[in-house]
Amino acid sequence: MPRLVMKFGGTSVANVERIRNVARHVKREVEAGYDVAVVVSAMAGKTNELVGWVKEANALYDGKEYDVVVASGEQVTSGLLAIALQEMGLKARSWQGWQIPIMTSDAHGSARIADIDGSGISEGFERHKEVAVVSGFQGVHKETGRITTLGRGGSDTSAVALAAAIRAERCDIYTDVDGVYTTDPRIVPKAQRLDKVSYEEMLEMASLGAKVLQVRSVELAMMYRVPTYVRSSFDDPADPKLGTLICDEEDIMEQQVVTGIAYSRDEAQITLRNVADKPGIAASIFVPLAEANINVDMIIQVVSDDTTTTDLTFTVPSAEYERACAVLNAHKNEIEFRDLQGATDVVKVSAIGVGMRSHAGVAAKAFKALAEKGINIRAITTSEIKFSVLIDSAYTELAVRTLHSLYGLDKA
Ligand code: ADP
Ligand code: ASP
Ligand code: MG
Repeated sequence: MPRLVMKFGGTSVANVERIRNVARHVKREVEAGYDVAVVVSAMAGKTNELVGWVKEANALYDGKEYDVVVASGEQVTSGLLAIALQEMGLKARSWQGWQIPIMTSDAHGSARIADIDGSGISEGFERHKEVAVVSGFQGVHKETGRITTLGRGGSDTSAVALAAAIRAERCDIYTDVDGVYTTDPRIVPKAQRLDKVSYEEMLEMASLGAKVLQVRSVELAMMYRVPTYVRSSFDDPADPKLGTLICDEEDIMEQQVVTGIAYSRDEAQITLRNVADKPGIAASIFVPLAEANINVDMIIQVVSDDTTTTDLTFTVPSAEYERACAVLNAHKNEIEFRDLQGATDVVKVSAIGVGMRSHAGVAAKAFKALAEKGINIRAITTSEIKFSVLIDSAYTELAVRTLHSLYGLDKA
């Protein structure tokens, strides 16, 4: 029998009534002839609550125990969904990450999946015609046997990885929107749903802030060529819509130059003033940051007037801002900067599209449009299929809407 992985996010399992609705979606697919593995998230808001409790217990918490606490949200929903399915007359059982097992690295709080043993789930399909209800987000580290979690939004990754492991025909990610839009539909009502989006573009959109899929899930979908749909759990289970297919670029007939606009508030800017302008200075700044595991994104070095000093601006994730400042101050003597200036009220707005490979002037058009709205650009980066600008966060919505209209993405 063909196999299917269905994943339901937090709002889709927010209470017992919503879980019953999920069970109806699952029943439909079982009746259509699929062996189904369902991956569930914790109920909406639950993981935030659990994280809050951990931080309240100790701000400098142990990562292993953090994972024990936050993984518990998914355990509740997997059990509840198995019960709801049984109540509808289907055979079903829950699986925790360690029971399958889903083996991961030991990077607690953001572990990576190393291997999934799909044999228990397959046996459940073949011997018992049993739906597998899998707790998303969780894994286990082989050597230590400790519970791990895959980072926020990680149930998407559990689902795609499981689909690859059990060779599912496709992976359906059910959420609270009916697909991937040209930008976040919550801030741009004129955003349009895409029927298809390429793996490459979805990867950029997710990396640049579109929270609809965890980045790692798109990487796995692309690597293992898992056809993945984003669709709504709020559709009538008897009359569902297909949503958005994430697929190979070649399978998309009509390509726009720009496919989507994303934004990320998770940025902080650091400027080092009057840094000595001599060989080795960039290394003296970025090597200590790399050693502290801090990702640097945009970098701008200003050509100096006096040829002895220069200014250097770059961005780091906002959660790493304080640590980055501490690392730089600790190396002040080697770097020889005069001042460190920082800003956390910044946002990165990006435009993504494979069409940029073959069109010139796409970014230039945006700079002009933003200037006309009086939006100052603090930093710019470009690559083959995207460009990003760093601006004051107060202008987030205006900038996203401006670019969305500029590239003809607004719904008529
Ligand atoms: P789930 O709990 O189901 O995992 P998420 O909140 O993680 O759901 O992801 C869905 C949300 O992603 C939507 O409610 C929407 O606000 C947001 N989002 C951001 N960018 C996009 C986009 N380009 N297309 C669709 N949704 C997006
Ligand atoms: N419950 C986890 C979170 O809120 C994982 C997920 O929902 O994908 O991040
Ligand atoms: Mg999510």
